[in-house]
Amino acid sequence: MIRFYALSRRSRAARSLTLRTSAKVNLVLEVLGKRPDGYHELSTVLQAVDLFDRLVLEEDEALTLRTSDPDLPTDEANLVVRAARLIREAAGVSRGARITLDKQIPVAAGLGGGSSDAAATLWGLAQLWGLGWGGERLAEMAAELGMDVPFFLHGGRALATGRGERLRPLPAAPAMSLVLVKPRFPLSTREVYGRVPPGLRDDGARTGALIRALASRDSSRVAACLYNALEVVVGPAYPEISRIKRALLGAGALGSVMSGSGPTVLALARSAEHARQLRSRVTTTAWSAWAVRTLAAPAIRAVK
Ligand code: ATP
Repeated sequence: MIRFYALSRRSRAARSLTLRTSAKVNLVLEVLGKRPDGYHELSTVLQAVDLFDRLVLEEDEALTLRTSDPDLPTDEANLVVRAARLIREAAGVSRGARITLDKQIPVAAGLGGGSSDAAATLWGLAQLWGLGWGGERLAEMAAELGMDVPFFLHGGRALATGRGERLRPLPAAPAMSLVLVKPRFPLSTREVYGRVPPGLRDDGARTGALIRALASRDSSRVAACLYNALEVVVGPAYPEISRIKRALLGAGALGSVMSGSGPTVLALARSAEHARQLRSRVTTTAWSAWAVRTLAAPAIRAVK
């Protein structure tokens, strides 16, 4: 249920909507080949996790963005602004919004933070401006903004194919406990895909195996099926990725893999308590770590 909150200021009342929007991890990521349009054909299982950015959307005449992260752009280079302009144009409205982004999801980390913010902006502005648009219309716009954006309109767990925009929802219960570990350096998704060797060609079998393992609810089997083809691209240049994986496995994680285009590494834990223990054991001045749970629910939620 979406709720609007009246921010009364004597003569002027603005309507506002506060959203939290989640990060994602890739439990498996296969590169099936390169397409004629230059993009890679992917087969990946995306999973929303409970690490959130927060967005406040307030009615205003102009379209503006403020963010808690001073390193992030607040112009067209920010996916939030791109999403807002796209939906404003598509809807043909002349209204604006004052958007405040509280950034908690690490940037350029393989956790889809920018895509998540973009999806939340589309979803939130459709509500704020009373457009009454269904999911399909939003999904079309989301695909224009980036390959991970449509996923966040659904959340939970999904198989993504094509460039990542063709989605098939998967059962996301029971929840799993994970640890996310990020070294200090960022990685550009575009650059990582640009370095994929032409011969890299998975056949989709690992995706099938992971989906069957998830259905079996056997954590050790899931752990054995974690896979990311992009590790062979990123690994040689960034040996820290392997060091993080070794540290997590050495500390008792069931399995470990890089998420998306990296550099964040995720590890599967036996329980929420186990995830917290792993997090304390691998946190260093060079590595940030989070203990998270997978989400079965939508990635985007209206909150107070
Ligand atoms: P993915 O997993 O989808 O590849 P990512 O987690 O690796 O994404 P993001 O955090 O989404 O990467 O950001 C990648 C780039 O996008 C950064 O260089 C950043 O400057 C830019 N960017 C634009 N808008 C945002 C935003 N709202 N949040 C984070 N990054 C943004």
